[in-house]
Amino acid sequence: MKNILVTGGTGFIGSNLCHRLIAEGHRVICLDNNYTGSLSNVAGLTDNPRFRFVEHDVIEPWDCEEPLDRIYSLACPASPPFYQGSRSIFTTKTCVLGALNMLELAKRKGARILMSSTSEVYGEPTQHPQPESYRGNVNPIGIRACYDEGKRCAESLFFNYNRYEGVDIRVIRIFNTYGPYMNPEDGRVVSNFICQALRGEDISIYGQGQQTRSFQYIDDLIEGMVRMMENEQGFVGPVNIGNPGEFTILQLAEQVLAKIPSQSKLVYHPLPADDPTQRKPDISLAAEKLGWAPTVNLSEGLDRTIAYFRRIIGK
Ligand code: UDP
Repeated sequence: MKNILVTGGTGFIGSNLCHRLIAEGHRVICLDNNYTGSLSNVAGLTDNPRFRFVEHDVIEPWDCEEPLDRIYSLACPASPPFYQGSRSIFTTKTCVLGALNMLELAKRKGARILMSSTSEVYGEPTQHPQPESYRGNVNPIGIRACYDEGKRCAESLFFNYNRYEGVDIRVIRIFNTYGPYMNPEDGRVVSNFICQALRGEDISIYGQGQQTRSFQYIDDLIEGMVRMMENEQGFVGPVNIGNPGEFTILQLAEQVLAKIPSQSKLVYHPLPADDPTQRKPDISLAAEKLGWAPTVNLSEGLDRTIAYFRRIIGK
């Protein structure tokens, strides 16, 4: 049994991770400001004596009495409508100050710490698929930069705490992920399309829908994340964790509509600025170092996610 801190623990990825860690018998402190997360995501855990929720914003330092073995540093809004606009400065603070505060905590506690970085560090990629060695093509003053550059700075902090402060780090770059415990109002493409189809609303395609993404089911991500955290080879990353199955946004809409009988029509909206044209992980490093590969394809993952949204929509 390990003592594990999960920041962003009530969010989509964090809550899935908390469920897994509690099921494995660990003691979990779930820390969140509930800006995009929700206590309802961990409702099934709150009675467990090995689970503790702490309301806290990682922009501020944090400490605890108990020893810590592991820190999963996940806290950050990750959906464009939530991380951009008037929240942009808050997003960069969360990425950078949140990383600093958690790295200081890891140093004090002697804990291993994992950072959830992102495929966004590759920006508008000029190399396809993207290996970890690709250094990216980010617009540093664009509307996505608050998140992209925040995460890039956090990666730099993690590696410098490793080099100069002796902190045991792990860094993963997460590609588009979907599944249960996503917030239906989150604004991301998979949750939007499924919820729109279930409600009989029109499907909102941004641009012509020809841009691509590679969609990973949440259970695959959690498995890759835990393997990365627990690898004892001292492999610090960064490592891509994503599903290389690549689809246009129109193909995704077609798959969703084929699974949910509805009157929904496709409606086209302007493409947001700096929206990446294509995105696909090269996952050979994860295969080599972690023996990891995704196991859930898009069709199967959509079925599970649709079942989840059917249960919660209207509640
Ligand atoms: N998108 C869309 N309709 C929506 C939401 C998103 O067409 O209702 C597009 C968006 O422009 C982007 C892709 O789907 O090209 C993935 O968007 P998401 O916000 O899910 O993730 P990210 O852009 O961060 O990869």
